[in-house]
Amino acid sequence: MTTTMPYSLAVVVPAYNETEVLERFHGRLAAVFATMDVEASVIYVDDGSADDTWAIITRLAASDSRVAGLRLSRNFGKEAALTAGLDAADADAVVVIDADLQDPPELIPQLVARLREGNDVVYATRDDRAGETRFKKFTSAGFYRLMERLSDNPMPRDTGDFRVLSRRAVAALRGLRERQRFMKGLFAWIGYRQVAFRYHRDARAAGATKWNYWRLTNLAIEGITSFSAAPLRMATWLGLSTAALAFLYGIWVILKVLVWGDPVRGYPTLLVVILFLGGAQLMALGVIGEYVGRTYSETKRRPLYYVEDSRGPVSPFTPP
Ligand code: UDP
Ligand code: MG
Repeated sequence: MTTTMPYSLAVVVPAYNETEVLERFHGRLAAVFATMDVEASVIYVDDGSADDTWAIITRLAASDSRVAGLRLSRNFGKEAALTAGLDAADADAVVVIDADLQDPPELIPQLVARLREGNDVVYATRDDRAGETRFKKFTSAGFYRLMERLSDNPMPRDTGDFRVLSRRAVAALRGLRERQRFMKGLFAWIGYRQVAFRYHRDARAAGATKWNYWRLTNLAIEGITSFSAAPLRMATWLGLSTAALAFLYGIWVILKVLVWGDPVRGYPTLLVVILFLGGAQLMALGVIGEYVGRTYSETKRRPLYYVEDSRGPVSPFTPP
């Protein structure tokens, strides 16, 4: 490789209660750094862990000058932790990777090589989801399909957050300060030159995933409502078609009364119509509420996270 300006690489790792794997992760990452001809560094973001995660990060930062640590003031969630890391990262290439070793750090050199071919985002796409149940595979496939149909700006399928970003892609992301952060969508939204890199995803090395179906469902709702107004459109269509049906049915009822007369009957139809309309209205209200709630939390313009402490070569970005 030619020796012009040193090419810098920063790896951003969100970590929430990752005592079990963090040291193992760092060992593998350091081994990868050793094979690379770049100025490498890593930023561990402790997302308000309740275990020894911050103690481990502190120790790693003390013994390795390439290690920086940020500790958030509480658990803000993975998306905020990632944002904190991206805000602080200052490098030509920034890698985003999970601490649980589900994304193999050994792929970083290949991802960076593709980035250096002139791309801005190289995202790792998993071939296979080892260690996940069929139901989870099925539900996530359904989710991606739904997103593709609903969103104006579809995001790549079977892609986690594992990716490498160019300096200008990171700068673009930094400008997106919305509170409802659906990172996968945001990564896709910025545009530039994005390419996929296929790999095989391993099962979690240790510890348990913090995602359960409740959180995944909420994430899916967030993904859809942050990037698409289609549910509002659907509510409109539902309302219009119900009104049209009710109108036709009304004409029929009136004609029936005029032609044959009508003793008190029709209680079942009445009940069905009332229940159906009530349900449709509640659903439409819920959809509207979802967007109103979103607007409410965005208008407060609160910072996305607070940094409580830091270690090593990092200057935490102070939100405007
Ligand atoms: N994580 C975080 N804050 C949270 C939850 C998770 O920083 O509130 C980190 C976690 O330590 C890991 C990554 O985000 O490095 C992915 O978490 P997890 O493995 O639980 O999610 P999954 O792999 O199922 O998407
Ligand atoms: Mg994981």
